Amino acid sequence: MIQMKDISKTYENGTVALERVNVEIGKGEFVFIVGASGAGKSTFIRLLFREVLPSSGTLIVNGHDVVNMPKSEVPYLRRGLGVVFQDYRLLPDKTVAENVAFAMQVIEAPRRRMQHSVNAVLDIVGLRDKYKNFPSQLSGGEQQRVAIARAIVNNPALVIADEPTGNLDPETSWEIMDIFKRINASGTTIVMATHDKYIVDTMKRRVIAIEDGKIVRDEAQGVYGYEN
Ligand code: ADP
Ligand code: ADP
Repeated sequence: MIQMKDISKTYENGTVALERVNVEIGKGEFVFIVGASGAGKSTFIRLLFREVLPSSGTLIVNGHDVVNMPKSEVPYLRRGLGVVFQDYRLLPDKTVAENVAFAMQVIEAPRRRMQHSVNAVLDIVGLRDKYKNFPSQLSGGEQQRVAIARAIVNNPALVIADEPTGNLDPETSWEIMDIFKRINASGTTIVMATHDKYIVDTMKRRVIAIEDGKIVRDEAQGVYGYEN
């Protein structure tokens, strides 16, 4: 699903965010990216959906050559991915159902299939009864559920999440993690940057630790490994 080879990223101001990173992530894996603030986690995550371009190296994501693809191919890369952020990033003037449907309008899905898919993913995240609510009428955990529904509505092969529980209390965080677990169990690859030691230590999934832009640890059933 992801092949990252000798990837380095130096930002315009000279900051080296990643240095010669090599990693392969297979289809169906659930991978945590951990590390201190400023280690390079977000840069790693943002490379995957081409929000930033590497300075050197090669990167294949879901069959797309992310580094050398023409700009016109970027939408095809992103259609195969779902992205979830710490701050939800919902459209405030659209309802729950409209927020989710919007991701499908972008791919010009037929109306009937769109309604069916929106209902189905709202069922998965447990929010079907709130389809008419606006984001401001939802708790943080509910807003993140909408963001997850939006991320999976096009049935992506890969879901990328950057600190998805960063603004949530522990109980709500577990509810969100249960949804990610179910999505993964259905075959979707998940790559998640997180600071949540308890979640990482309890889930016993693959852990990739980044320090100063380098991978310092990659364990199949890893632990968080830092003090919180
Ligand atoms: P993390 O997600 O682990 O906190 P980041 O990938 O956000 O780490 O940042 C890695 C390094 O790159 C940090 O030193 C950060 O300040 C720097 N950085 C991140 N984004 C930019 C940017 N747009 N311009 C310059 N430096 C950046
Ligand atoms: P939390 O305490 O978990 O942050 P809230 O107090 O924000 O949750 O919301 C509790 C419940 O009330 C949620 O199910 C939310 O959807 C609903 N709710 C909150 N504000 C509104 C509102 N303005 N209109 C309709 N429902 C709301």
